[in-house]
Amino acid sequence: MNLNKPFIIAGPCSAESEEQILLTAQGLAATGKVDVLRAGVWKPRTKPGSFEGAGVEALPWLTKAREVTGLPIATEVANAKHVEAAAPYNLDILWIGARTAANPFSMQEIAESLRGTDKPVFVKNPVNGEVDLWCGAVERLAVCGVKNIGLIHRGFSGFGAGRLRNAPMWHLALEMRRRMPELTMLCDPSHICGNRQYIAEISQQAADLNYDGMMIESHINPDVAWSDAKQQLTPDALAQLLNNIKWRAGESNSESYQTALMGLREQIDSLDREILQLLADRMNVAENIGRIKRENNVRILQEARWEDIMERAFTSSLSLGLSEEFLRTLLDAIHIESIDRQKRVMQK
Ligand code: PEP
Ligand code: MN
Repeated sequence: MNLNKPFIIAGPCSAESEEQILLTAQGLAATGKVDVLRAGVWKPRTKPGSFEGAGVEALPWLTKAREVTGLPIATEVANAKHVEAAAPYNLDILWIGARTAANPFSMQEIAESLRGTDKPVFVKNPVNGEVDLWCGAVERLAVCGVKNIGLIHRGFSGFGAGRLRNAPMWHLALEMRRRMPELTMLCDPSHICGNRQYIAEISQQAADLNYDGMMIESHINPDVAWSDAKQQLTPDALAQLLNNIKWRAGESNSESYQTALMGLREQIDSLDREILQLLADRMNVAENIGRIKRENNVRILQEARWEDIMERAFTSSLSLGLSEEFLRTLLDAIHIESIDRQKRVMQK
């Protein structure tokens, strides 16, 4: 897909009325920063009883907004019926939501209904943190000859994201890009954040991770939105936010920068060597522990000891300037490997 960077898709979570769509589209067009108008027409909701979208009735609102503003239009499709119902309106872009991307049967059905299309189709990451499943969704479209496929990273549900609605788990999106480097990758900070106050921060991070653009929810009157009210921005607030994002260069030829960078990278490389050696040493000690546990018929897991290690690490996290989240991830990985090494010794 050859899109100008940053490529910005913006618009309300859901299409609610013709007036809401037109006013929002006009506000977005006036910013001069938005490439495509989005609006959900069919809304897969986590729980029954929430607004599930206006359906086909809303499609003429979108085409009218396109006529009035000149903005291309995009909506979400979650099954083949949606694809067929949207066809007469010739939407410019379709996207597949996180819940649908997690379902291979739905993906297959959609892929077949889109066979051969050169319309851009964006695939959001599945709700669960499984890169293979995301790849599989893309591959099903590709096998059916869908020519312009893009990715949208919207975070992963149910990982105890804390202040954010969906855990970004940036490494999974980066892994996806490593596997499919030719695909355009957008970030959807709205669904990662769940709250408009964090969107600027997450958007800046996406820019610094070399994303190609963003899909951001914007509503003419966010507080009365029928879905995702807390995370939507007015078109003016969106314009300001986009203005403030710095799309920094990938490289600099400045000689002083290059020299300083080289020096710092040497430090990093040497520290990495030390860290790896220390980890190897630590695992060798774990094996020795495995040996004496085997001789004394003691099981591997000693919960109190592990809690003690974690506790001590967290106490020092502040003075070390390391976040608790990072320490937990690191120590968990060390613990898993350590258990595995002890298991191998004990099962010998
Ligand atoms: C949406 O874009 O409004 C939406 C439902 O997103 P997701 O599929 O990422 O939850
Ligand atoms: Mn939404």
